[in-house]
Amino acid sequence: MSRAIPWIEFTRQGSLLKEELLAAFREVLKEGQFILGPQVERFEKAFARFCQARHAVGVASGTDALELALRALGVGPGDEVITVSFTFISTASAICKVRARPIFVDVDPLTYTMDPHQVAWTLKRLPSARRKRIKVILPVHLYGHPCDMSEIGRLARREGWKVVEDAAQAHGAAWQGRGVGSLGDLACFSFYPTKNLGGYGDGGMVTTSSAALAAKLRVLRFQGRLQKDLQMAEGLNSRLDEIQAALLGVKLKHLTRWIERRRELASLYRKRLSGLPLQLPFEAPRARHVFHLFVIQAKERDALARFLLRRGIGTAIHYRIPVHLQPFYRPWGAGLRLPVTERLSRQILSLPLFPELKPTEVEKVCRSIRAFYLKPKSSRAIAAK
Ligand SMILES: *Cc1c(COP(=O)(O)O)cnc(C)c1O
Repeated sequence: MSRAIPWIEFTRQGSLLKEELLAAFREVLKEGQFILGPQVERFEKAFARFCQARHAVGVASGTDALELALRALGVGPGDEVITVSFTFISTASAICKVRARPIFVDVDPLTYTMDPHQVAWTLKRLPSARRKRIKVILPVHLYGHPCDMSEIGRLARREGWKVVEDAAQAHGAAWQGRGVGSLGDLACFSFYPTKNLGGYGDGGMVTTSSAALAAKLRVLRFQGRLQKDLQMAEGLNSRLDEIQAALLGVKLKHLTRWIERRRELASLYRKRLSGLPLQLPFEAPRARHVFHLFVIQAKERDALARFLLRRGIGTAIHYRIPVHLQPFYRPWGAGLRLPVTERLSRQILSLPLFPELKPTEVEKVCRSIRAFYLKPKSSRAIAAK
């Protein structure tokens, strides 16, 4: 009986890194400091360097990173933020938490990221009172593919908006050779365990090249405290733990190699899946994709997923319902039509991909997908039952 292939798996990496991780943990115990100590400082510096950004501020999660970034830019009630609906829910919830309004635009059908033409199209149709209240544009480097930051940057400069990158899925990705995390005014990362750089719990980071914004973020993440007994703002309790920082520091040293591995596995997938009625991931010429997820599009998505599951192959859907169609977000999505987003959500399927996945496992996944399409169309849904 052959082994099951999950869409993501952590124990293989854990056993490879065990000694390094235990040594880092011992160091934290020896130092006896657990919040905002030397480990966080060291990891912030290393991560900023990795992203080609000047400053990095550790926070409690990617969701908090987004909220803190918006607060640092002074986004609040009555302001508008342009973003996408084809994303994880936090992108939008952070906007709502600071009492601003999200304006959802459609994505590019090939890269799945914010389509600059759609931004321009949406702007033309927006009442001028709302247009004037736009403060920020918040593109998402989805699945590890960077957005078209040249065009988004040009639009932002023309309109006087700030740019906040949601880079939660894209550590190490680059646009025209420049790392994500250094392409906007601020960038937000997550260290949720499934991410390309994942911790052993929650964690996040905001990067920036502005010393003033970095200083603001340091105040906001710690109760609005400038120094002991001096409150400057309504802050959050949102800090990266010393233990997480120490463990993430160990993993950061392996990240470039892991990304290479993801890219190799992705190209093996592409070879073995060619010629099937599927849309495979695309890498724009100016982009470096880090394949946080390997997402295909299939018209018979749900039948294919069931068929694979029966053969012990795990898949996932990121995400089944776009944000503007979620019950809570209806007020901001009313009357909105995002045809690319809506079609993608019905057809996307994330195949197994993580650095420790074996090429033989990729081959097996691809053979199973081929077997599905070898069946006559009429019997595929039945075969998947
Ligand atoms: C994971 C993720 C977040 C949120 O990060 P958390 O650390 O889970 O709070 C935000 N945006 C995107 C696109 C994500 O994938």
